[in-house]
Amino acid sequence: MLIQKVPEKNSVLFVWLNQYAGILLKTPSKTIAIDPVDVKVKSLQNVDAILITHEHYDHLDPRLITEIQKVTNCIVIADSASTKKLQYTIPADKLQEAKLGDELKIGAVKVKVEKCNHPAQAPVTYIITSEDDVKVYHTADSLPFPELALMGKKEKFDMVFCTVGISPGASAQTGFEIAWLTKPQLAVPYHTALSANQTEFADMLKKELPRTACLIPEQNKIYQVSKRK
Ligand SMILES: [Zn+2]
Repeated sequence: MLIQKVPEKNSVLFVWLNQYAGILLKTPSKTIAIDPVDVKVKSLQNVDAILITHEHYDHLDPRLITEIQKVTNCIVIADSASTKKLQYTIPADKLQEAKLGDELKIGAVKVKVEKCNHPAQAPVTYIITSEDDVKVYHTADSLPFPELALMGKKEKFDMVFCTVGISPGASAQTGFEIAWLTKPQLAVPYHTALSANQTEFADMLKKELPRTACLIPEQNKIYQVSKRK
């Protein structure tokens, strides 16, 4: 899924790439793939950066990352366990280890590395702030955790991706709790193969958190999201 369009000012475009946490995000200046698996190299041939949250098969495919990196010469930012798996095939100057609390830059796009509540070696989540200040929180397949509440207050997220299935312990309810804690402008239920999980999530939001809109994404479709007014 190549995104040919450029987002309007104060907006970003995104595509949900697979049934997991695979997201392609495009700001006015940068194209970023997060946890791409089950995708063709061809569809990511214009990425500037790849972000990896943890080493599980549904988030990290070292062969695919290596191929994309070769074709695009993009930078790869990854948690420490994934960095270890990528260090022999990604050039050292293109591979960056993401540690909790890091504030990284991809040109004018900022990436903040946050905690992740998931049984992996050193999982992280990423707050991505576009050059015109659209704030996107990619929570990998994290379960809720208390610090999300403060983060939501501080960051005022425009969009938060919420896991509603597949992962251990994850459900529409835990996805809803992530939205409830972070209170974004827009919540996007993902990481599921069942649309019932997504509609259940949407129903809970509508009832309990009416000021947060819900976008149930279709895979491989382009969506534009604008900054909160
Ligand atoms: Zn997962």
